[in-house]
Amino acid sequence: MNPVNLLEHDRAGLTAWCAEQGEKPFRATQLFRWVHQRGVAQFDDMTDLAKSLRERLKAQATVQALPVQSQQMSADGTIKWLFDVGAGDAVESVYIPEDDRATLCVSSQAGCAVGCRFCSTGHQGFSRNLSTGEILAQLWYAEHELRSRGAQRQGGSDRIISNVVMMGMGEPLQNYAALVPALRAMLDDHGYGLSRRRVTVSTSGVVPMMDRLAQDCPVALAVSLHAPNDELRSHLVPLNRKYPLAELMAACVRYLQHAPRDFITFEYCMLDGVNDQPEHAQQLVELIATQGPRRGDMSWCKVNLIPFNPFADSGLKRSPHGRVLQFAKALSDAGVVTTVRKTRGDDIDAACGQLAGEVRDRTGIEQRIVLQRAAQVPALNPAPAA
Ligand code: SF4
Repeated sequence: MNPVNLLEHDRAGLTAWCAEQGEKPFRATQLFRWVHQRGVAQFDDMTDLAKSLRERLKAQATVQALPVQSQQMSADGTIKWLFDVGAGDAVESVYIPEDDRATLCVSSQAGCAVGCRFCSTGHQGFSRNLSTGEILAQLWYAEHELRSRGAQRQGGSDRIISNVVMMGMGEPLQNYAALVPALRAMLDDHGYGLSRRRVTVSTSGVVPMMDRLAQDCPVALAVSLHAPNDELRSHLVPLNRKYPLAELMAACVRYLQHAPRDFITFEYCMLDGVNDQPEHAQQLVELIATQGPRRGDMSWCKVNLIPFNPFADSGLKRSPHGRVLQFAKALSDAGVVTTVRKTRGDDIDAACGQLAGEVRDRTGIEQRIVLQRAAQVPALNPAPAA
């Protein structure tokens, strides 16, 4: 029998596994703390466990980290790790330190089947879902590796990483069964102890799973919006054909009743001449004003404008900075809280939408994207000077 990787379990799962081994629930809590709070992978080092239990654990279990294939450090302190997940696939995680927080951007899949037009991961196609252990191993490694390097601790705690965003490679809500236990381990006081406000799931709009997440583990939610009308969004985010804007907005409003914050974040990648025109800003204002919990209420969401990070063969360009500011002003003037995301780590291809890892496309999505791209972009406007 293969040993069980303890990273595959949240505390409830570990408690169930311990029960199968004839161990009491408090043993699971002890083990969970050793693994996640203290980063200990060797059972001999778990000194408050009986020697007989340690011997049995050595035979039956393991704490299996992911091999690090490469590490790149940006001039701005951002670090990108490439983790080998076997069979030719590798996924990326990005550590982004700031003055008052440190965020880890975590991958949920090797590749992605959604195929967003502006996303480097989407262009690589999809290989497979990551397991709970493979998702958690990214945080486990980053947190304990950075501790050993003496990285800055957050808020007087032992913790280095204060925020997790599920915004790396993959659509997290298309890997729901593995995602939820990983989120629970992140939130667990005996694990990483992160608050629900500091763990964010980013989705391209998998509506039924948004409803399930609201019930099962309602962390902060970011929605990859990127367009204010269905025609353009279906082109940029193909999932929109299945779950169009009206359904997506209604799901956001339902999620709000459970969300740890009183707003949803909309991510909007600014693409030169594609979705960055004044009429797009007006349509976005209209969408927010009419689809929220109350007509005219603009406070239920925040819009995060993301400068596009070009990658080879994308066929798209970053909006000029002046146009991004005009777009932001149009939203702000209409009462929408709007931020422009700082790009971090773009010298190591670690910025938003640039994560590509190494993926063996098993779905032929790359070919489909080539075909899609041959089709005309709807609602394209000539790009005026910024
Ligand atoms: S933006 Fe997200 S959902 Fe879209 S292709 Fe990239 S990883 Fe997938």
